[in-house]
Amino acid sequence: MASRGLLVAFRYTWKYRKMYISTTAKAAPSAERPKVGRSQSDRWSRGRQEPGMQEQMDTFGRSFGLRSNDQRAMTMQHVVPKPRKQVLRGAGYLYRAESSFCLSMAEELFLDAAEFGNIPEVRRMLEEQPELNINCVNYMGQNALQLAVANEHFEVTKLLLRRKDLARIGDALLLAISKGYIRIVEALLGHEAFADGQRLINSPSQVDPHDDFFAYDEDGTRFSHDITPIILASQCHEYEIVHTLLMKGSRVERPHDYFCQCMTCSEHQSHDSFRHSQSRINAYKCLASPAYLSLSNEDPVMAALEMSNELENDYKKLSMQCKDFVVGLLDLCRNTEEVKAILNGDTESCPSPETLGRQNLIRLKLAIKYEVKKFVAHPNCQQQLLSIWYENLSGLRQQTTAVKILLVLGVAFGLPILSFLYWIAPSSKLGKLMRGPFLKFVAHAASFMIFLSLLILNAADRFGGTSLLPNMTTHDHPSQLFRMKTTPFTWMEILIISWVIGKIWEECKDIWSQDIREYISEPWNLLDFSILAIFMTSFIARLMAFWHAYSAQCYVDKHYTDLSNMTLPFEIQYFQLARINWMPSDPQLISEGLYAIAVVLSFSRIAYILPANESFGPLQISLGRTVKDLFKFMVIFITVFLAFMVGMFNLYSYYLGAKYNDAFTTLEESFKTLFWAIFGLSEVKSVVINIDHKFIENIGYVLYGVYNIIMVIVLLNMLIAMFNSSFQEIEDDSDVEWKFARAKLWFSYFEHGGTLSVPFNLVPSPKSVLSLLLGIRELLWDGPKGKIKGNSNDEMELNKLRQQSDLSVDASLCPTRHQSIMNRLVKRYIVKAQRDKENDEINEGELKEIKQDISSLRYELLERANQDVETVTKLITQLGEVMHVQQKEEQKNEISLIY
Ligand SMILES: [Zn+2]
Repeated sequence: MASRGLLVAFRYTWKYRKMYISTTAKAAPSAERPKVGRSQSDRWSRGRQEPGMQEQMDTFGRSFGLRSNDQRAMTMQHVVPKPRKQVLRGAGYLYRAESSFCLSMAEELFLDAAEFGNIPEVRRMLEEQPELNINCVNYMGQNALQLAVANEHFEVTKLLLRRKDLARIGDALLLAISKGYIRIVEALLGHEAFADGQRLINSPSQVDPHDDFFAYDEDGTRFSHDITPIILASQCHEYEIVHTLLMKGSRVERPHDYFCQCMTCSEHQSHDSFRHSQSRINAYKCLASPAYLSLSNEDPVMAALEMSNELENDYKKLSMQCKDFVVGLLDLCRNTEEVKAILNGDTESCPSPETLGRQNLIRLKLAIKYEVKKFVAHPNCQQQLLSIWYENLSGLRQQTTAVKILLVLGVAFGLPILSFLYWIAPSSKLGKLMRGPFLKFVAHAASFMIFLSLLILNAADRFGGTSLLPNMTTHDHPSQLFRMKTTPFTWMEILIISWVIGKIWEECKDIWSQDIREYISEPWNLLDFSILAIFMTSFIARLMAFWHAYSAQCYVDKHYTDLSNMTLPFEIQYFQLARINWMPSDPQLISEGLYAIAVVLSFSRIAYILPANESFGPLQISLGRTVKDLFKFMVIFITVFLAFMVGMFNLYSYYLGAKYNDAFTTLEESFKTLFWAIFGLSEVKSVVINIDHKFIENIGYVLYGVYNIIMVIVLLNMLIAMFNSSFQEIEDDSDVEWKFARAKLWFSYFEHGGTLSVPFNLVPSPKSVLSLLLGIRELLWDGPKGKIKGNSNDEMELNKLRQQSDLSVDASLCPTRHQSIMNRLVKRYIVKAQRDKENDEINEGELKEIKQDISSLRYELLERANQDVETVTKLITQLGEVMHVQQKEEQKNEISLIY
């Protein structure tokens, strides 16, 4: 024991002497001595010591069983080298200003022992030297606990944690969490500093500034000021630690909205806006981490979806993380029940009557709304959707496309009959079949196709050229005005009108059933709305034209019998004129123009049903995205175009009539010339002036040339390049995109109602008549009650929510089916995440751990060897004594024998 102590002491003395020699040698030439710590160095040089120091040294010496001489020598050696830290100003200045720069020998030894995992040494020093300052710090400002935790010395940490006056436990905890030392984290959490639980919720910025609980050294903390243990653990994906912390009551508060105006937010914002944003990001990083999502929420799917939406605008990456988490959960499903649990949410706690019989798919609806495309396009989800899509018609799924097309055609031709049958008996077997999403879709698509063919056939009489030329008039009988021939609706047009009105009724029901904002947010609805609006305007204009003509006809019928040789008043005569004489603002002309636009838009509506097909769907998605790119490009395009259009017009507007042609002389001509120049359809001579104004002409040439270079060579080619790249990009994930679009399409047919397709939905069904009668009766008999019921829709929702929360309180006592499934999935997810992590870090971490263990083991072995040596020496001395005694006895015996 003594020899070993000496050995260690010698090693240290030698080390310090060497240091001393080298530092004094270096320090000697520098004449300037730093002012900082001068008094200290003076004190040292005068050989004075602090009384506490001497005491510590004494105990240190005693503990090693040194004799006083050795001790003095050692103290001297120890004392002398210290000034080096003040003398040097160059290298190593960073850590010199530490207030606790001078460590006693014992403290040095203690810190070393903690750092290298010398368990026996630490234990001995803690037991034998109660006055040892266990919070002393090394040159880096780290205390024993921090060193032990940093090097993963579990036993040493445990030994240190027995002391109550331990400092910087918070920092040690954060360090252990960041390195993933679970056992150490648990040991640290067992310390009484965490007894009140408040420590786990506070971040370093919230604790008392004089408290060095979270301090790394005197200058600050190791981690950012707003990092709490749970935030760090979540960010490091340490599931077990997050779980432990959550069990201890640690939580993360959701940050306020970025534009929040509350007191705390504005205070933080004005104090340091960067730090405010930083703390928001840190909190969100925690909230969006799979570890926190899965362990802190009863319904992680819902939480992750909500979080992904919340982060969508500001933090794309975190939002993706949430989405990946949901997809990961879905990926781990092994049976239909689990998939249903994820897609439907907790159906047991809030059974709604309108979704009975079919899944409500609330979570999926949310995923579609928040555009979690990977989730919706996931095979597990698609499989579920497919089975609902072919509800009652599962045999059709395996059929070839030809059979499906035949079915579609059959439904299209039999649509009136089918609709009539459904109208009579909605609850029959056929009615149930028709209510299935697939047949509903087919019926709607067929109805739309019929509408399109009506639009085509409406112009059938003019396919080969109209028989009524613009300069001709005609009438059936002499007293008929010409316009009475052109304005009335044909029977084909009346069919189209009925379709449009049916469609409008459908849209009205749509708006009624869902929120108006939701309706507007869907681009298809906007397209529908504009088509219908244009059609209606066109028909109304036509009706006005007819009305004017009809009133004129009435006037004529009253006053005239034959119009052939009559001079009519101008208002009446106008309705006799041929088309070439109509006013440009004639309602009929407006109606015809709008109708043409509406027809074009109606055909674009086909794109809505194309995603149902697997070969057209992806193509259409790509096309749509490319058009989106085109619109972005158009902004630049139009800017350049406008610049040259106005510039050229300014240059040539004074030369109207004095040019080779009319190009650029008016704004309209300028537009036409430049527009067709893009396609190479404008002449170069457009810039030539007939008179001798060379300067203007040359400027014209230059500008026109530059325009052509920019437009045709640069911009057009860039557009093509952009198309290429974005098409490639879309092509890569067009499958996901298409499946998402298809799911959206399918989903719109999953909801009940709207079985009868346009225009048959205009005929009130017995069911709706009955409910209308009931509604009227309610309104008449108990009017006030009905009113309350009308605006109590929100209240009902609230009640439902309250019931739900009550249920969830009960549920925490005994988990519902949904909760147990969720728990199962989350467990599976965590196991998978941990397995992945282990695979990742098997090389570095493990190797380091082994190294640390070997280091500890060495010290333990040394200790044991020492003990063994001691016992052996003891035994030998005992043996020697025994031998000695025996020898003496033998001698005595011999002597007695001799005598
Ligand atoms: Zn706020």
